[in-house]
Amino acid sequence: MSGRNDYVAFAEVALPVPLRRTFSYGIPSEFLRARPGVRVRVAFGARALIGCITEVREQEPDLPEGAKLLPIVRLLDDEPVLDEKQIELARFIADYYLASPGFVYRAMLPPETPRGERFVYECIEGVKPSQKGGLAAQVLDSLSRPMTARALARAVGKKSVSGTLATLLRAGLIRQRPVSSKGGGRRIRTAAITHRGREVLARGEKLHPTTIRVLALLSLATDSVALSTIRNELKINRGPFASMERRGLIVLEHNTVVQSPWARLRAPSPRERPELTSAQETAVREIVGSAKEERFRPIVLRGVTGSGKTEVYMRAAEDVLKRGRSALILVPEIALTPRLAADLHGRFGDRVAVLHSALGSGERRDEWWRIRNGEARVVMGARAAVFAPVQDLGLVVVDEEHEGSYKQEEEPRYSARDVAIFRARNQNAVVVLGSATPSLESFTHAVEARYRLLELLERIGNRPLASVDFIDMRAVVRDEGPDTLLAARLRDAISERLAGSEQAMVLLNRRGYAGQLLCRQCGLALMCTDCSVAMTLHRRARLAVCHYCGLGRGTPEHCETCRGEFLRQVGYGTERIEELVRELFPESRVARMDRDTMRKKGSYEVLLARFAAREIDILVGTQMLAKGHDFPAVTLVGVLAADNGLGAPDFRAAEHTFQLLTQVAGRAGRGHRPGQVLIQTFSPDHYSLQCAQAQDYRSFYEMERKFRAALGYPPFVRLVNVLVEGDSMAEATSRARDAASFLRRVELEGVKVLGPAFAVRSKVANRYRCQILLKVPRQQHAQVRGRLRHLLADDAAAKAVVIDIDPMTLS
Ligand code: ADP
Ligand code: ZN
Repeated sequence: MSGRNDYVAFAEVALPVPLRRTFSYGIPSEFLRARPGVRVRVAFGARALIGCITEVREQEPDLPEGAKLLPIVRLLDDEPVLDEKQIELARFIADYYLASPGFVYRAMLPPETPRGERFVYECIEGVKPSQKGGLAAQVLDSLSRPMTARALARAVGKKSVSGTLATLLRAGLIRQRPVSSKGGGRRIRTAAITHRGREVLARGEKLHPTTIRVLALLSLATDSVALSTIRNELKINRGPFASMERRGLIVLEHNTVVQSPWARLRAPSPRERPELTSAQETAVREIVGSAKEERFRPIVLRGVTGSGKTEVYMRAAEDVLKRGRSALILVPEIALTPRLAADLHGRFGDRVAVLHSALGSGERRDEWWRIRNGEARVVMGARAAVFAPVQDLGLVVVDEEHEGSYKQEEEPRYSARDVAIFRARNQNAVVVLGSATPSLESFTHAVEARYRLLELLERIGNRPLASVDFIDMRAVVRDEGPDTLLAARLRDAISERLAGSEQAMVLLNRRGYAGQLLCRQCGLALMCTDCSVAMTLHRRARLAVCHYCGLGRGTPEHCETCRGEFLRQVGYGTERIEELVRELFPESRVARMDRDTMRKKGSYEVLLARFAAREIDILVGTQMLAKGHDFPAVTLVGVLAADNGLGAPDFRAAEHTFQLLTQVAGRAGRGHRPGQVLIQTFSPDHYSLQCAQAQDYRSFYEMERKFRAALGYPPFVRLVNVLVEGDSMAEATSRARDAASFLRRVELEGVKVLGPAFAVRSKVANRYRCQILLKVPRQQHAQVRGRLRHLLADDAAAKAVVIDIDPMTLS
């Protein structure tokens, strides 16, 4: 039954399955609207899947012998939800990262609803029905309020108006907005504080305690807050809302459809708009100048910690908005930067969309459409926000561009920074890569003049950089004993700061209580059975946890290998240090910040707000502490086991150590009092520590560059890591050998094929893994990808292969 007579045309559809290609379907005559960027439902094997059309052709595709061309079952959209630029972006990612197009599209499409999208349609302001005749005029006329297609059809007495709606959409006279998932045009009751309410609160007038708490909460939000949220937050059943409104303290509103995620956060209040320093001024002028020309321009903005990079981003965004274009601001992790979200909201109000990971799926969808409709013109988010459907993109900012979290470690394995650069190029936008410690790759582009380099070399207000000193643990072990975790010098320094009512941070880049559980009899550690790595002890949860796969289990009483009775805890993590700090400083208020304590939605915000409000004296945590926080009362940062990372089997170990220490030094002394950083280490002479102490990025860059050149690592070559998996080590090894010999069959100039070797993590989640590492000169990259594509041509073989282009780590 398949054949060209049944179909008017043929579509390539990207489906969310782990195969690195698209699939052909026939377009039946009732689906003339099928176009690239439209979502469809199709049959795939026994399943029904939702995918996205990537291409429409007249020509019938060549199918393998015996395969039947199936029809598209349903169109989910009247109009493409992805535009041409987004489709180009998806194509680039699938091609460069050898990723499944379906997974790439899934990352770009609006969050799905099970039954497909239902829309309400609304007039664009200022459109008059007389601009169109006939049915179109009637439809426009009826759209005095948002309506669904069904209601509209009823209003104009037709069976369907979808054709007319499509025409009006394309002509830009109306827009569509998905109906909120919770049911048609949900209305929620919200409250906002009035000017009078703020005054009353500030004067400290005598009021009912609940009234005061409601006012205090509302004064923190930058927008109105749902009453249900207020009740939840304050743990009250009913609120005194009506009486508060009567007294003019708040206003109550009904808000429809669009829910502002922002209203839920306890945001820090936004900062004033300061006078720019001359260095900032120069940077802004350069960025804005390029944005004005509407051509692609990559810029590295290297600014020491506290030099005011954020203000530069915001000014540049203001300018871009003035020209009717939009800005996309990427940060490593939203929850760690509530301040920037607050500032953006303060500056840009409703035109901001913050793609927070705590958004529910309905909210995510609402934000997606606000961006897509051009209502949100400043979009801030983490890695995945690089796919946001920003209209008229003029500026992309990648803050802390060196951060590993921009790399997605599962399919599609893209780098958001590199995708951002591609997007900027494709949309003639300026891209700013900001960091105090740019990655070797980006800085090399700047040094070799492919990117423009802008530098902010001084802290705002000429505040001195924190002083950095080492505590040599070799001497501490000798003088204070081998089990010393906190050297006397660090303990004294903390006491001193506390006495002066200042705050301190203690950083250790390992969570959990003890590093490992070793048997004293046979010397073996408790291992994760799925991943072959030592498990970490978490005392509060009373579990041993694998940090790779998350497997948690009770701790055994006997060694599982030799039945020995004496198990010894070796190494230590943040949980242990928190306990120790509490013991050493019983009078002070201590809290911990790591992935274990920050599980719940909103917990970062609450902890950071408490720390900012000086409700906490000592904050213990992992590298989360080092991120761009700005706490003026922090004058001391202690770093434990700073050299932990240097032994890792990772060519970026020195870079990561340098970056972490420099960032953490940036946290101290951001107020009026100078800051001090004390680093406990066994290798104070290592160049990454030495350069971090001097906060000398350039020297570090020069040394690290030499090392990378000598050993043939990025930025001098590009890496491709090919992981080959199997159910047994023998299977993984033999597959990997075949793959390696295939890759070696034709020699490509300058390309090195290393391995196969056991992967650094040779067993993860019960799969055995070998790796083949390719070192590829830039000009050979496309060739190598072509060879890899051959390797993946067989569907069965392809499933056992993970390809990581430009890997961040080699594990
Ligand atoms: P960075 O991101 O470069 O580490 P921040 O953007 O956090 O630095 O800026 C450090 C501090 O300086 C912030 O509190 C910020 O509000 C403030 N700041 C930035 N620019 C100015 C300025 N021109 N005048 C006064 N304060 C400023
Ligand atoms: Zn595991």
